[in-house]
Amino acid sequence: MEKVVLRGHHLLCVHGFRGMGYSPAFVEKMRSVVEQIRDVDTDFPIQVIRGFDMTCQVCPHKGAVACEANEGSEEHVQTLDRNVIGHLGLQENQSYQKSELVALTREKVAPDDLDVLCAGCSWLPYGVCKEGIAQLRGKDIR
Ligand code: SF4
Repeated sequence: MEKVVLRGHHLLCVHGFRGMGYSPAFVEKMRSVVEQIRDVDTDFPIQVIRGFDMTCQVCPHKGAVACEANEGSEEHVQTLDRNVIGHLGLQENQSYQKSELVALTREKVAPDDLDVLCAGCSWLPYGVCKEGIAQLRGKDIR
């Protein structure tokens, strides 16, 4: 299995993902990561970073050194990464078991926290991210 590396804010995106994304390749990559994370029968290490991760690598908005989704997006996504890493009490570049990251998210993130943690994200108004967090808190999965 490919080593799983996720940027901080994608630790929340994986719970809200419903098949939307920036391109077919991005959606395919995100779907494969999400399937692994939602599979209660598997556990594996995930390295948490603030910067381009395995999904950014296939994103059409990835520039040479910065996210180019829109003006200021690099700063914005780094802020989201910091928000989530800080809220979950994680250390950048450290690896954690998937089960631990999911448990921390369930324990520490309420749906309305996304208004702060994910402020300014274009996906937030769709409501699927809050729904995903609500579902995570309502069922006992790893
Ligand atoms: S929009 Fe930017 S941060 Fe988001 S996946 Fe694409 S390159 Fe990464």
